[in-house]
Amino acid sequence: MVTALHGGRHVLRSKPPTGRPVCRHTRSIWPHGPAAGADVVDCDADRPIDRSTGSRADSSSAFPVNRSAGRAALIRPTGKRHIMQADVVVIGLGTMGSLALWEEAKAAGDRADRVVGIEQYGPVHTHGSFTGESRVFRVAVHEGARYVPALLKARERWQHLQEVAGRQLFLPTGVLNVGPEGCEPIATVRQCVAENDLPAEELDTAELRERFPQHAVDEGDVAVLDTLSGGLRPELTVLSGLELAAKAGATILTNTPVTGIARDPNGGVTVTIGGPEPQTIHAGRAIVTAGSWAGRLLPGLADLLTVHPLSLTWFAPHHIELFTPDRFPVFLRDRRTDDGGLEHLFGVPTLDGFSIKASAGSLFGVFDDVAEVPEMPGADKLREIGEIAHRFFPDLNPEPVRASMHHDAFTPDDAPIVGVDDSGTIAFAAGMNGNGFKFAPLFGAWVSELSRGETPDLYDEEWYGLAGHRARAGLA
Ligand SMILES: Cc1cc2nc3c(=O)[nH]c(=O)nc-3n(C[C@H](O)[C@H](O)[C@H](O)COP(=O)(O)OP(=O)(O)OC[C@H]3O[C@@H](n4cnc5c(N)ncnc54)[C@H](O)[C@@H]3O)c2cc1C
Repeated sequence: MVTALHGGRHVLRSKPPTGRPVCRHTRSIWPHGPAAGADVVDCDADRPIDRSTGSRADSSSAFPVNRSAGRAALIRPTGKRHIMQADVVVIGLGTMGSLALWEEAKAAGDRADRVVGIEQYGPVHTHGSFTGESRVFRVAVHEGARYVPALLKARERWQHLQEVAGRQLFLPTGVLNVGPEGCEPIATVRQCVAENDLPAEELDTAELRERFPQHAVDEGDVAVLDTLSGGLRPELTVLSGLELAAKAGATILTNTPVTGIARDPNGGVTVTIGGPEPQTIHAGRAIVTAGSWAGRLLPGLADLLTVHPLSLTWFAPHHIELFTPDRFPVFLRDRRTDDGGLEHLFGVPTLDGFSIKASAGSLFGVFDDVAEVPEMPGADKLREIGEIAHRFFPDLNPEPVRASMHHDAFTPDDAPIVGVDDSGTIAFAAGMNGNGFKFAPLFGAWVSELSRGETPDLYDEEWYGLAGHRARAGLA
């Protein structure tokens, strides 16, 4: 059920706040009905009437709800007065924020209605870093062995998340890392495997050709199949995080841009939200998970972060049956070029039955602000990526059947930022370097724990915290 009041702002809830106005339609969803003394308001006012039945049209498809799986979610309007005070405000409900909100709502128990999540767009929108059908989850990463323990923990959390969400989020295909023998990416993957005793399979050139004939393999190419890894479903992850947070009682405001956060002299924070009806919310704490927009809200992050456009492309194979998840693992591939460099491609088996994702990564420059990101990759770049994809996989038709442009915030040394300010009132997770999705359930939990004054298991403050980042970047 979707209604729009107050300039399109939505509030998503599934638990009745004590003594507050509730929609009359919520009685059937909440097991015990509205709390005693609650007002009942009509949330149907903006829904069109279906002329054939004379009743209001069911708009639930805008935010699918599977009640049989216990994921009942309700979007209803609220008056401003309901949320002037909060225990914690989570700003930005994309990858990290949707899961941090769920963590906060679980931790808050009976006070979960004082956990407020705010998103500038609608729930699970197309503008964030999380869109594009799939993400790669790797345990043995090119980024270095230091991340392996955290990724093993993240993997456990992915399994748990998909169980409680009741939908598949993790695709256990394994990840095939391919490259010339001796190249750095393969060496780092091997280091991750060796230092952490990870299950993995080594393939020499002949074995690689035999087992994965989809790949055009050069003499000297080898592969490491990281069998704990695979793919992730990003939009469904954010949807699951929001549903679970709502079910745990969190208050969710969408289409609500935050324009400022200020620390209060006597403790806590004041969050200003813009739009047609600007207002402030006073909260004990804030968690900023604003992705590529984080630098706009937190000056302490602005000089660390740049925004990188990242494109995604999909190609149609002539023989789609060779590219199904059971035969074609998620891959990361580096190939030696004539000038001795490496060209890179990553991708995911077919999820739509006619195309595979094969994408080249960051080819579009670096910007200070997300507003500068081009809307689409240009024709020349698409042709270039298509030629690479066809060289790597001769069965692919070189013209992309789908292409899209996205973005992510990057730090100078490609290390993610997860930390809390020195007052302990503003925690943040940002600067995920085109790599953060795999960590999402872990970083969502970390940023929530840091905000609540706890020290997360496996958290390395010097590496992830703001002071360490600023020191490594040579910033005061
Ligand atoms: C094309 C592409 C491919 C990628 N591939 C992989 C991969 O294979 N594996 C992997 O692990 N990672 C991958 N990544 C990286 C990963 O997707 C990102 O690191 C991750 O999604 C970032 O999450 P986030 O929460 O920081 O940002 P987002 O998910 O963008 O969330 C930020 C949210 O904050 C909201 N917001 C911002 N400002 C405000 C405001 N002022 N008020 C209210 N709301 C606000 C935004 O609207 C958004 O919803 C990829 C990224 C891209 C772009």
